[in-house]
Amino acid sequence: MAGEMRRELRTMVRRGAREGLLRGTFGNVSIRVPGGLLITPTATDYLKLRAEDFVAVDLASGQAQSGRPSSELPLHLAIYRALPEAQAVWHDHTPFAVAAGLVADDVPIYTGEGHGLIGRTLPVAPYLPSGSAELADAVAKTFERTGAGACLMRNHGAVAIGPSLFAAYSCAIATEEAAMHFLLTRGLAPATLDEEEAAAIRTAFAAYRMR
Ligand SMILES: [Zn+2]
Repeated sequence: MAGEMRRELRTMVRRGAREGLLRGTFGNVSIRVPGGLLITPTATDYLKLRAEDFVAVDLASGQAQSGRPSSELPLHLAIYRALPEAQAVWHDHTPFAVAAGLVADDVPIYTGEGHGLIGRTLPVAPYLPSGSAELADAVAKTFERTGAGACLMRNHGAVAIGPSLFAAYSCAIATEEAAMHFLLTRGLAPATLDEEEAAAIRTAFAAYRMR
């Protein structure tokens, strides 16, 4: 089973790199496995990652079994510990997500997939140093407080979670698009979905959402 999950992770991370979600060495992705998680190694070329390169980490101790995990491991650990239903965490530094996080505390959502995958709004966690326990705690609390499928980290990037790796990846795409929609219509009068319609969409997407 672990081998299968490593291959799934490799496939999705390469896909994310090809599609521009993971550029350079920025961002990191993990999946929950029994007793812990598998995460991308630090400073890696995503297109060259092999299934065996992902680092297995114990959830309770936070210790890597071998290799060097992403420096943002504390963020992933905090989310898995706070949200037992989270099965995957996708973190990237996509440009619209970063830009939206600089000018909003809560990004409005305008589309069906946005409501379905992210929720009513896309919350923004405060700036705290990358890789710090403080940032990990702030982001986990943002997910707990809002029930959102994704949040932005000010002056840094985006984090998407999901009940599967594919759901977290889809949520990461919806997050970058929601940020772009917000920035392109900022100062205009964008049409919004009425709340009844938005609630119906959120219900219909229940299988893709955390809660
Ligand atoms: Zn980052």
